[in-house]
Amino acid sequence: MRRVPLSKPFIDGEIRQAILDVLDSGRFILGPQCQQFERELARAAGRKHAVLSSSWTAAVFLLHQAMGLGAEDEVIVPAHTAFPSIEPMLHCGARPAFVDIDDTFCIDPDLIEAAITPRTVGILPVHLYGHPADLDRIVEIARRHNLWVIEDCAQAHGALYKGRPVGSIGTAAAFSFYPSKNLTVLGDGGCILTDDDAAAERVRMLRDHGRRTKYTHEVAGFNLRFNEIQAAAGRVGLRRLEQLNAARRAAAARYRARLHGVVELPGQREWALPVFHMFVIRSARRDELAHFLKQRGVETGIHYPVPNHLQPAVTAKYRGLPALPRTEQIVREILSLPIHGQIGLDEVDYVSDCIIEFSRSN
Ligand SMILES: *Cc1c(COP(=O)(O)O)cnc(C)c1O
Repeated sequence: MRRVPLSKPFIDGEIRQAILDVLDSGRFILGPQCQQFERELARAAGRKHAVLSSSWTAAVFLLHQAMGLGAEDEVIVPAHTAFPSIEPMLHCGARPAFVDIDDTFCIDPDLIEAAITPRTVGILPVHLYGHPADLDRIVEIARRHNLWVIEDCAQAHGALYKGRPVGSIGTAAAFSFYPSKNLTVLGDGGCILTDDDAAAERVRMLRDHGRRTKYTHEVAGFNLRFNEIQAAAGRVGLRRLEQLNAARRAAAARYRARLHGVVELPGQREWALPVFHMFVIRSARRDELAHFLKQRGVETGIHYPVPNHLQPAVTAKYRGLPALPRTEQIVREILSLPIHGQIGLDEVDYVSDCIIEFSRSN
């Protein structure tokens, strides 16, 4: 039987060689590969600073610390996202103020202002599945209310919002390089981007035991550094990103053409150039469809079955969270189909044929 994986990290000969070269270099942590990778990541988004850390979660935790996020502060965030989107703020004692989504699965800008209170300090939009959130509207609301904006770009490397790269527009932004993401370091990794010199410096200091020079610890920090082997792999991946994203877009276009009128397709704005970290359809019989596809060798996923305002880690701590009707509806219907930078259109056709067969036979 044919097997179609949900995702697949990109590894080629150049990546293997880059890793071997690091083994011979004798440098393993925060060396020249990390510095180069940071410069290249900053340049790709037209930002002054990129600061690498051991994951998105670690990088954003350090950023929140650097910005002084604290207890009683509230942060506006969609509930329909990966749990780690809110984990760093929970560790700072801040309260997530959950907002519902629109048909692009991103935060609905029309609902943001109603969630603002005197305690609100920032907005954390998520470019979910590689489709940019409506940043101009979000930034405009943030300016009017004196809030920061941190873009969660974990699923959106290389996506464009009105021609501008995501990660270049908010007060700061954060990327993940986890193996399934569009740009990976073949393990855990993440970074923040910002133009704020002081915040970047503070994150650099906190990730490395609170020091700027070897033996002077200005504050108690952490060890949340990044390493040379993975930076070298990431640098090659960054050079391949455009090509891998183009393959994802071609696969998405094929899914759209084949599945039009068969299942509910993801919404897309005319100003968005998405990068399809996931291709997420909706079906009233999602669980049956997933089972049908599994029997035919097609791996699928649900991102995410339990929204964050209903996660035990959140409900145990916070009372009076709002109901989010769209989020609560779509989590029962969403299904992520196979998509990655090396997927063949024959694989997309096979998956589409299976879905069409399911819809005809039922
Ligand atoms: C993967 C992901 C994260 C967390 O990234 P890590 O590097 O695993 O910490 C955060 N937000 C979103 C939207 C993600 O997809």
